[in-house]
Amino acid sequence: MIITSAKPFEEILELLKNEDYIFVIGCNVCAAKLKTGGEPEVLEMCRRLEESGKHVVGWALPTAACSIRSYETLLEKNDKLDEALCVLVMGCGSGVSAVANVVDLPIYGSNNTLSLGGSSGGKLLSSQCVMCGDCTISEFGGLCPKAQCPKGLLNGPCGGAVDGKCEVDSEKDCVWSLIYERLKKIHRLDLLYTIHAPKEHAFK
Ligand code: SF4
Ligand code: SF4
Repeated sequence: MIITSAKPFEEILELLKNEDYIFVIGCNVCAAKLKTGGEPEVLEMCRRLEESGKHVVGWALPTAACSIRSYETLLEKNDKLDEALCVLVMGCGSGVSAVANVVDLPIYGSNNTLSLGGSSGGKLLSSQCVMCGDCTISEFGGLCPKAQCPKGLLNGPCGGAVDGKCEVDSEKDCVWSLIYERLKKIHRLDLLYTIHAPKEHAFK
């Protein structure tokens, strides 16, 4: 799941200050789960834009904003798209890009894209993976230090944790404490003896 947060409405209005006849596109997967682009949020966005003097020509809620086959598939959802002069996408950056790929109009995004996370056991999990392209998560019991340790340490903790909390962000558990507990639980503490080479940081 891509973790997003909604931009303040004032920031969205500023983005749209020279635009009118707006078509709003939500995302019924990640953004809907996070309440940053599901149907209620899309309807509320349309209402607030209209209240602010903008014309909203229509809206659509594709299954996933990041997976749009063509302009025609969006039209099938709502043919008012043909009347739009710009599009506001309430998804992640990938969703905005996917729409821009098929719609030849100015495109705006209403969200900030924060990380690749998930949800499990009723809890939202942020920054579970930073998509390094060289996955070694299996060697850490299923928890990624590259993504979850602010220092990206691959060969053990920095030693600064206090009561299991990270010294960089005391709101978060030290992922190395979690990795240790997890490997202990699954009887794989032997994995801690593996020395990991630094990861490739070049832009891919
Ligand atoms: S090692 Fe971590 S950051 Fe890299 S792909 Fe695997 S989970 Fe993602
Ligand atoms: S306390 Fe743990 S998670 Fe935080 S920087 Fe140090 S090793 Fe990484």
